Amino acid sequence: MAKKKVRIDQSLCIGCGCCVGTYPDDFQIGDSGLAEPIAELGEEDAVSVCPVGAISVEE
Ligand code: SF4
Repeated sequence: MAKKKVRIDQSLCIGCGCCVGTYPDDFQIGDSGLAEPIAELGEEDAVSVCPVGAISVEE
């Protein structure tokens, strides 16, 4: 498990909260009802919890 630069494509996010529930230190649900990273770096394994593929990491 490693911290990397994590991005969320909010045009894909459906606000299901899976990423927030699994990695509450890395993601939050914003005012828009969609997920956003809390910090620049997040857990790279979060990519696999998103059902719509909205989370990506920069290598
Ligand atoms: S898991 Fe994916 S769809 Fe669900 S809130 Fe997080 S980024 Fe959005």
